[in-house]
Amino acid sequence: MNLKGHIFWSCLIMIILWILIPDITITSILVSIPFTIFPDIDHNFGSHRHFLPHSIILWIIVFIFNPSIITVMIVFGTGLHCLEDIKPRKMKGFALITYWKYKKLFKFKYSSTLWLLINFINSVIILGWWLALK
Ligand SMILES: [Zn+2]
Repeated sequence: MNLKGHIFWSCLIMIILWILIPDITITSILVSIPFTIFPDIDHNFGSHRHFLPHSIILWIIVFIFNPSIITVMIVFGTGLHCLEDIKPRKMKGFALITYWKYKKLFKFKYSSTLWLLINFINSVIILGWWLALK
């Protein structure tokens, strides 16, 4: 998905969540929206769809040291980016998850889709778990 698509769908989904779930604050939405496009920062470092920004690993570490609705929404925003990057018809070439430059992280078919989907599902689980605690 391109930048405009990421911004549009992320804002739409975040606003729907904000309307439906009272525990999600507008501050956490405003902070997390830039993080829904952050994973594509890897374009600037000669790689596309690097596994580290295209996962919730970094933000889980931040969350462990600073648990709050804002860090939970950053984790969810990154997960949302992963969901938006899943395009079943074009999951080849530049769309695959890499570990360095253009070297593929996984060799088997659908592995990049699986990586992105697992990160999205885990971000939803973390958001649900956090909201259930409140
Ligand atoms: Zn991306």
